[in-house]
Amino acid sequence: MKAVEVKGLTKRFGDFEALRGCSFNVDEGEVFGLIGPNGAGKTTTLRIIATLLRPTSGSVKVFGLDVERRADEVRRMISYLPEEAGAYGNLSGEEYLRFIASFYSEDVEEMVEEGRRISGLGERLRDRIKTYSRGMVRRLLLARTLMTSPRLAILDEPTSGLDVIYAYEVRRLVKEYAEERGITILLSSHNMLEVEYLCDRVALIDGGVIIEEGSPGELRERYGAENLEEAFMEATGRG
Ligand code: ATP
Repeated sequence: MKAVEVKGLTKRFGDFEALRGCSFNVDEGEVFGLIGPNGAGKTTTLRIIATLLRPTSGSVKVFGLDVERRADEVRRMISYLPEEAGAYGNLSGEEYLRFIASFYSEDVEEMVEEGRRISGLGERLRDRIKTYSRGMVRRLLLARTLMTSPRLAILDEPTSGLDVIYAYEVRRLVKEYAEERGITILLSSHNMLEVEYLCDRVALIDGGVIIEEGSPGELRERYGAENLEEAFMEATGRG
């Protein structure tokens, strides 16, 4: 079963075509990276898969369900971490996790415990979110996204704005969690090294078109490149 099937996806904003016929598949259980430069169409693609934005044409299925016709069912299987997300500043981190867990679980405390573990924020979870650094908020939101054990987690630039240490931690968490739970992860990034470390397979997107899809190793080989960055430059004719 494919976790995500994207076929001929287009999205127009007025006269501007942000997606111009994207197709790619994400297998169940893999960590899949959508990578490309600023403005390539990553967020637009993820928002359509997450049922938050309607495509202009083309089709998107999540575990076999059409995201437009079966949006409610799709929403129950996924969780989505937006690129720019905030949390309620007046709540403590722990109150926030409990508030979210109350929508999902019979056993709220078990889910909160899971969130606590993923966040790695320890005692700081007792403090109000408005006292957190940007990196701490990001970790809290990642915990919130993963603790519900979605079948598919969609992470838009999970390490955006994080310093090296936090980014490293977040990558480790995502990888560990995906392996441990066997959940499917679809993430976007413009950090090719990050993607190389994290992802089983990737799709390169540029100007609203998918130009390559494969494992980082396959893509490196295809372009005789030492790393994904080089492969990307070659694939887009910028090399
Ligand atoms: P980044 O890495 O900078 O976040 P991205 O790959 O996620 O980029 P998108 O946010 O998907 O890119 O945007 C793709 C293109 O569509 C951009 O040119 C953007 O300006 C445009 N776009 C996105 N949303 C809208 C909107 N609501 N109205 C008009 N144009 C939009």
